[in-house]
Amino acid sequence: MKIIPVVHFSFNDHPFRKPSFVVYFCGCPHRCRGCHSPQLQDPDFELCTEFSAEEFADLILGYHGRMQGRVKSLVLLGGDPVIYSEELERALRLVKESIPSFEVVLYTGFLFEEIP
Ligand code: SF4
Repeated sequence: MKIIPVVHFSFNDHPFRKPSFVVYFCGCPHRCRGCHSPQLQDPDFELCTEFSAEEFADLILGYHGRMQGRVKSLVLLGGDPVIYSEELERALRLVKESIPSFEVVLYTGFLFEEIP
C-alpha cells in the first residue's frame, strides 16, 4: 500500500478531537468535487512510498512507543485507504495485537456496504 511515510500528530482529524496519529494514503478513484487533497488521488504522487503491512504496523508502533503510549488513536485518510483493504486489514491486526485498545478512524469515499 502507498502512504506518505510521515505520521502526523493531530487533534483535529479525529471526529471527537482525540489526540491521534494521522496517516495519509495515496490513490483514490472517487474524484469528489471539492476534494481536500486532490494530489493524493494519484497513487504515484512524488511523496508516496510503498509500505508492506508489517512496515506499516512497525511505523505506527514506533510512533506509539516514542509518545510513551499516550496516543491511542490512529486516523487514516487520503486518498482512500480502502483501496488497500486487504493489506491494511493485516497491518491493523498487527497493530491491534500489540495494542488491543488502539482506536482506528478511517475516512473513505466508499459506502459501508462496498467495503470488503
Ligand atoms: S474520497 Fe477523499 S481523497 Fe478521494 S476524491 Fe473524495 S475527498 Fe478526495
